[in-house]
Amino acid sequence: MTRTTAPRWRRPPQLRDGRFANWARTEGSAPSRWELPGTEGEVVGAVRRARAEGRRVRCVGAGHSFNAIAAPSDVAVSLDNLRGIVTHDDSTVTVLAGTRLSDLSAALAQRGLALPILGSIANQSVAGAIATGTHGSSLAHPNLSGLVSGMRLIDGTGAVRDLDEHDELLDAARVHLGALGIITRVRLQVVPAFHLRERIEWLPVDQVAAALPEISTSAEFTKVWWMPHTPRALVFRYERVSAPRTVLPVLLDRFVDEKLLHHGALPLVYAAQNRRPGWVPAWNRVAGRTLRKPSRTGPSPMIFSTPMPVRHTETEAAVPLASGGAAWDAAVRTVDVSGARVNFITELRFVKGDHGWLSPAYGEDVVQLGAYTAVGGDRDRYFAEFWRRMRDLGARPHWGKELDHRAPELRALFPRFADFVAVRDAFDPDRMFANPFLDRVLGS
Ligand SMILES: Cc1cc2nc3c(=O)[nH]c(=O)nc-3n(C[C@H](O)[C@H](O)[C@H](O)COP(=O)(O)OP(=O)(O)OC[C@H]3O[C@@H](n4cnc5c(N)ncnc54)[C@H](O)[C@@H]3O)c2cc1C
Repeated sequence: MTRTTAPRWRRPPQLRDGRFANWARTEGSAPSRWELPGTEGEVVGAVRRARAEGRRVRCVGAGHSFNAIAAPSDVAVSLDNLRGIVTHDDSTVTVLAGTRLSDLSAALAQRGLALPILGSIANQSVAGAIATGTHGSSLAHPNLSGLVSGMRLIDGTGAVRDLDEHDELLDAARVHLGALGIITRVRLQVVPAFHLRERIEWLPVDQVAAALPEISTSAEFTKVWWMPHTPRALVFRYERVSAPRTVLPVLLDRFVDEKLLHHGALPLVYAAQNRRPGWVPAWNRVAGRTLRKPSRTGPSPMIFSTPMPVRHTETEAAVPLASGGAAWDAAVRTVDVSGARVNFITELRFVKGDHGWLSPAYGEDVVQLGAYTAVGGDRDRYFAEFWRRMRDLGARPHWGKELDHRAPELRALFPRFADFVAVRDAFDPDRMFANPFLDRVLGS
């Protein structure tokens, strides 16, 4: 049976008293009702019912996008009841779309398997993560949507569509923005489970741009963090190693970081900084030193994911690999020029090019630069200056983070943008799956 009222189980973060709220609490909406289908047949029923009533439908993942992409303006559908592995072999897994990446990793580990790459957290749903081009950092692996070799979705007419790797439309549906229909299952590439060792080194911030070619190829997974207003950046490298005797040190470190620091002390520090922004640089110097930790070793999902951080907000720009150094320097200069007090890291990651029509890495390897800061404070000034500089470099935005782009600008940045809109019009002729965010970025 399809439930049409708020669920009785432990409240998922994106559903608060019948309202939708994203993780950062920067976006919210009041859906007319929630549909919580437990089978693919019930998803079809939910879409057909909404269609018959002339309503709009938005499928919500885990609500971890920093913008309003998931915010339902009418009927909300959550696939929180549609979770788990359907089938797997040595190189692929077919998974129900509401499955959280963390649960998928745990289930794969029991089978001696793993996703080849993950982002910094794994709380997202499978369909939600691929929707926005969620990525980790490696020139050897694409973003998660690039691991997809098939999917099933229910389109705006209530028809079931299966897309496989021989279907050109799969490339349209990889980074799908929730615009083509409700995805119910996804087939993803998997690899034998592996272990990683993390090594972290300091590098003067003004040497990072020149070092990027070396950094990008010095290990399978590498990334750079910089705590603004400080003179040094941190280079992270991850190598495959054999299994450690114990993962206790990693678990302990995570507990201290997540529970004591990010959820205990940092909200108080940020509240104080909001009253006295002048404290930010001094605090960053202290906080920056704590980011350089002793080497950690463990199963790949444990090492890829950072502790769930203090509430903050993010924007992110993708530039061609060759422009990575210029983008890094521009991001660093942004902090000085904007005059903003920035209390969260700047992050540089590498992503292998792919074929997803709306993927920020479409057609070429990219550097993705993330500008992050706590909610409130100087966010608007900081992000505006960041994007003024990133636009000069022709950057494409991350669809799951804060962006103020509109359709005409996006059409020029993504060569297959018009083709994607044409597929959307074919899959969703009545724009059932639209919301105000989609109207802005795809054109209404
Ligand atoms: C703390 C934090 C850390 C993050 N780290 C990273 C990172 O390391 N790398 C990175 O790239 N991003 C990162 N992100 C961004 C995040 O991965 C993306 O925004 C992702 O899309 C969120 O997934 P979700 O399941 O929460 O989807 P939601 O935000 O709920 O939805 C995203 C989109 O997917 C659609 N959707 C969801 N499920 C379905 C479905 N079944 N069918 C059709 N459409 C659907 C929604 O309609 C919406 O359009 C981070 C976010 C947070 C909060």
